[in-house]
Amino acid sequence: NEGLGSWPARRARKTPHRTALVHGDTTWTYAQLYERTTRLAHALRTRGVRRGDRIAYLGPNHPSYLETLFAAGTLGAVFVPLNIRLAGPEIAYQLADSGTKALVYGPQYAGLVAGLPGDTDVRAYVEVGAEYEEELARSAGEPIDQPVAPDDTCIIMYTSGTTGRPKGAMLTHGNLTWNALNVLVDTDLIADERALVSAPLFHTAGLNMLTLPVLLKGGTCVLVEAFDPSVTFDLIERHRITFMFGVPTMFEQIARHPRWPDADLSSLRILTCGGSPVPTSMIGVYQERGLTFLQGYGMTEASPGTLFVDAEHAVRKAGSAGVPHFFSDVRVVRPDMAPVDVGETGEVVLRGPHVMPGYWGLPEETAASFTDGWFRSGDAARVDEDGYVFIVDRIKDMIISGGENIYPAEIEDLLLTHPDIVECAVIGVPDDKWGEVPRAVVVPREGASLDPDAVLASLAGRLAKYKIPKSVVLAAELPRTASGKLLKSRVRTRYGNSEG
Ligand code: AMP
Ligand code: MG
Repeated sequence: NEGLGSWPARRARKTPHRTALVHGDTTWTYAQLYERTTRLAHALRTRGVRRGDRIAYLGPNHPSYLETLFAAGTLGAVFVPLNIRLAGPEIAYQLADSGTKALVYGPQYAGLVAGLPGDTDVRAYVEVGAEYEEELARSAGEPIDQPVAPDDTCIIMYTSGTTGRPKGAMLTHGNLTWNALNVLVDTDLIADERALVSAPLFHTAGLNMLTLPVLLKGGTCVLVEAFDPSVTFDLIERHRITFMFGVPTMFEQIARHPRWPDADLSSLRILTCGGSPVPTSMIGVYQERGLTFLQGYGMTEASPGTLFVDAEHAVRKAGSAGVPHFFSDVRVVRPDMAPVDVGETGEVVLRGPHVMPGYWGLPEETAASFTDGWFRSGDAARVDEDGYVFIVDRIKDMIISGGENIYPAEIEDLLLTHPDIVECAVIGVPDDKWGEVPRAVVVPREGASLDPDAVLASLAGRLAKYKIPKSVVLAAELPRTASGKLLKSRVRTRYGNSEG
């Protein structure tokens, strides 16, 4: 077995007594992780799961998530992580689309699972808790020797598309291995790493930028079911956490928390952040505290690591998503695929051993997302004279005002330097004269009284006139996906009507 399914066995051979997983008061060594994974694989095989079949998991961060992933890999089956924030019909769609045969789910979802339509391919249901433990206890523990090749599909991960049906990105064992190797090459991750896993494992970054590289190296992952800033401080202190990944909203909440000034953060060695635009003002807050705060850029289809800032250049290049990972190639190109000049904005395209072979069951969408072998990200970016890439925005969120291109993220980044603004989104609204003009939707700090005119005045002289929003709307909160990504389309429908 050359795939992920062999990792627990290989780790158990090298470092059986080291701690792999911590969850609440439960601790699994690598030897235990291997044994439990093997037993679960036997249990699933007894329930009819074979090589190539799909096994889905529905639940928050928990050891059984990783056990199911590795058990699937042991059998050469394909793991399908489900987002716990989805509604019943959305889950039913992903189960049907993937043709899932076995579903492992957390007890919190028993009601949802009971209400799923009866016409899916799911034949085996295993509830985490007593039922799951009984399955393990009565199953065999001898090694399973199922051949798995690097090009075999390991995971089908549905992307949090903001329009249309979600698409299942097929990630191979090779894709995930190369991604983990990229993280190990491009950070100082060590065997003694203690990682805090509070980003959801059903999203690509929590799994692939944090958990899998640490398990490959033999470190410890502390699993947390839901992110909470106060709990984060407790766990950092209690476990002397060294490594964290978070989306920007998580790091924002930590830095704004009342405990931030006095918390003991001295154990932290590496903080990585990405998944949506990372405000430069926030990077500064972490760097001023002497913390190594590294931005990365990627996408589900790329397993996801694509660009990464190295610690040595993190301060000088603050705001940049960095340079390509060691085993990745990235270009910023014009519509004809020719590379842009320094300072010019173009589309990020990428290729490498971490890029998916395609979307599950969607050959046309797959073909449309590659040009000459390069995956088209749909993101706009600039490159500086040293080759550092600055992500500008999603291309489709671009506003065109009087023939000028405006990327909302540039305005949002400046608005977030305002002390009384905690979140914001800039959208285009129809305008008779200019076609479209920018509008800012801002969430004021609790207790602050925010004057829209003063907000606009604070941008004067810092942005070209045509980029300064023509109106400001105050909001209590902004619609986001489970991974913290702003749902721009929903902001547009909610706040995009022409009177402002
Ligand atoms: P997903 O496919 O859900 O993993 O989302 C990938 C998308 O998140 C990318 O195409 C970008 O639009 C966005 N993204 C990821 N990392 C960054 C970053 N560092 N800065 C700006 N946008 C990012
Ligand atoms: Mg995407």
